[in-house]
Amino acid sequence: MAKAKGDIIIDVEICKGCELCVEACPENIIETAKQVNNKGYLYVVKVEDSCTGCTNCALVCPEAAITVYRKVKKKKELVTKISNVTSDITLKVGK
Ligand code: SF4
Ligand code: SF4
Repeated sequence: MAKAKGDIIIDVEICKGCELCVEACPENIIETAKQVNNKGYLYVVKVEDSCTGCTNCALVCPEAAITVYRKVKKKKELVTKISNVTSDITLKVGK
């Protein structure tokens, strides 16, 4: 089964650099940055694009600094249905 696709946004200004999220991420995609935020904490950043949206990082963050997004697969939509064709027809799809 394909992995779910997720993404996170880290509010670096409220991050305190505790690294709980770094430990909690099964994909190892969160790392400590080399810079400090306005409060003087080394904040964390996302370094890879393989987030599954599992929410582990957000659940362990004591500062609620992480927002997790998960891509939802779109349902199939009916575009057109052709029936009862009795002679040649021309179909134009799109522009
Ligand atoms: S949601 Fe899961 S996979 Fe994505 S960054 Fe957080 S812990 Fe890692
Ligand atoms: S768990 Fe929260 S406060 Fe701790 S490093 Fe991660 S984002 Fe920052």
